[in-house]
Amino acid sequence: MSGSWRSIQEWFLGPRCVLCGDPAPARLELCAGCLADLPRLGPACPHCGEPTPGGRVCGACVRRPPPFDYLRAPFRYQLPVDWLVAGLKFERRLNHGRLLAEVLRDHWAPGDDTLPDLALPVPLHPARLRERGFNQTIELFVPLLADLGVALERGAVERTQPTVAQAGLHAGARRRNVRGAFRLAVDAGRVADRHVVILDDVVTTGSTVAELARVLRRAGAARIGVWALARTVVS
Ligand SMILES: [Zn+2]
Ligand SMILES: [Zn+2]
Repeated sequence: MSGSWRSIQEWFLGPRCVLCGDPAPARLELCAGCLADLPRLGPACPHCGEPTPGGRVCGACVRRPPPFDYLRAPFRYQLPVDWLVAGLKFERRLNHGRLLAEVLRDHWAPGDDTLPDLALPVPLHPARLRERGFNQTIELFVPLLADLGVALERGAVERTQPTVAQAGLHAGARRRNVRGAFRLAVDAGRVADRHVVILDDVVTTGSTVAELARVLRRAGAARIGVWALARTVVS
């Protein structure tokens, strides 16, 4: 079969980029151009992930550092990352999950921190988990954690309140919405004196991961990080 015939066949039959429809590698379903265009977070405050010149600590963290030690996220939560995440969460487009998990693994920059002892995904309330059928954060992070050899602790924290969806709430309302929303479901000895990372799909105001960090801090965690796929950038 000639090369040109093969490429014509691939054009019609092969895997497609989910964003633009051009031919894409089967592993990723994202063409090279769309991959290069994904919105990267860039240099950011090491505590909270807000973009800053040269990655300096931001003014807000100088005044009042968050209850976690650092935040890492490779992408900005804007088009097309938000569309891909929404497709996974609300339309069960599991190919979006596979794609984002691969992209997260390929673009992960560990920064200066040592690897954590364990990783805790932000839990969904059981009612939400039943309705969705999966915790999207776990789907996103499994390949990366496997590569790094970091243990995933699925049930170590529980969501005790079926909080109202955070979208559309302002920062103060978000903090009130998640206050007391989590509790440790294992012996505090599992996290005491350990370096723990909280995994979340998207960090918006940071109120959810901050509340979970407070629970872990009370249980004696020595170092607390946040790993996310994407972070909302206000400015
Ligand atoms: Zn494309
Ligand atoms: Zn900051």
